[in-house]
Amino acid sequence: MSPLTGAPRDRLRIAIQKSGRLSEPARALLASCGLSWRESRDRLFCYGETLPIDLLLVRDDDIPGLIADGVCDLGIVGRNVLLEQAGERAANGRAEAFREWRPLGFGGCRLMLAVPDGWDWRGPAQLAGRRIATSYPALLSNWLQEQGIAAQVVTLSGSVEIAPRLGQADLICDLVSSGATLAANQLRPVQTLLESEAVLAGPARDFEAERAELAEMLLRRLDGALRVRHSKLLLFQAPRRLLPQLLSLLPDAESPTVMRLDQGEDDLALQALCHGAVTWQRLEELKRAGARGLMVLPVEGMLA
Ligand code: ATP
Ligand code: ZN
Repeated sequence: MSPLTGAPRDRLRIAIQKSGRLSEPARALLASCGLSWRESRDRLFCYGETLPIDLLLVRDDDIPGLIADGVCDLGIVGRNVLLEQAGERAANGRAEAFREWRPLGFGGCRLMLAVPDGWDWRGPAQLAGRRIATSYPALLSNWLQEQGIAAQVVTLSGSVEIAPRLGQADLICDLVSSGATLAANQLRPVQTLLESEAVLAGPARDFEAERAELAEMLLRRLDGALRVRHSKLLLFQAPRRLLPQLLSLLPDAESPTVMRLDQGEDDLALQALCHGAVTWQRLEELKRAGARGLMVLPVEGMLA
């Protein structure tokens, strides 16, 4: 039996982007949840080794459909793709089949309107009667409708940013992260339609039976990994009387553990999980405030 047909229902299958912006961070995140895989030669399917969780490597645009059809249980995809396809389904009168389960904190970008440099932008009302090129017709149409604006949506599958110069459209609606592509095409972002990032997508309904347990375990691990993603464990010693001041330098720490040392009545050992960046500068401030033996440790996971 091919691994892609008739999935045994006790294995979980996650679709991720085969190659692109989200591929590496998606794999790294799943690996940090303790998953590992044996890759097939065609690099389409990766068989889960440590857990019965397999990967399917596909184009990002195919991920919502694979979840809707039950070919995959979960997927990692941009919110922009998920909501565009959800909007398209809704416009065609089809039932909701997938939804966002978790924001994942990478692949951040915005769906924005961008106008040619020469435009004097005074707000959405200016869009009436204009032609807007986009690869996100459903999201754009919904937004225009909410704003009560009648504009023409020109759907393009790629190279949206050159549409104004080619005379295909007056302005564009596209994804922006740094804005460099827009600037290179003499365009200026003026209005955000959607804040996007990579998300864990799953079916609109919860799983049944065996796979529900596996999915719950994965979500628990994922939440733990996301929670400590930018966290560090900070260890140090200090005299008891300096404690209030040192703690005031750790506003991002989860209630620190304070321990007495074996020797030295007045000295304490502290252990704090910091969620903000622990920079050299912060360590130096703590040292100046009386901390000794400062040590910063990476945190790989956390189970609440
Ligand atoms: P595929 O071959 O899988 O269809 P693609 O070209 O559609 O790939 P990428 O360009 O790799 O996809 O983008 C994947 C996702 O990365 C986007 O859907 C979006 O959520 C996110 N992203 C982050 N920053 C940007 C950006 N500046 N431009 C486009 N997408 C971005
Ligand atoms: Zn794509």
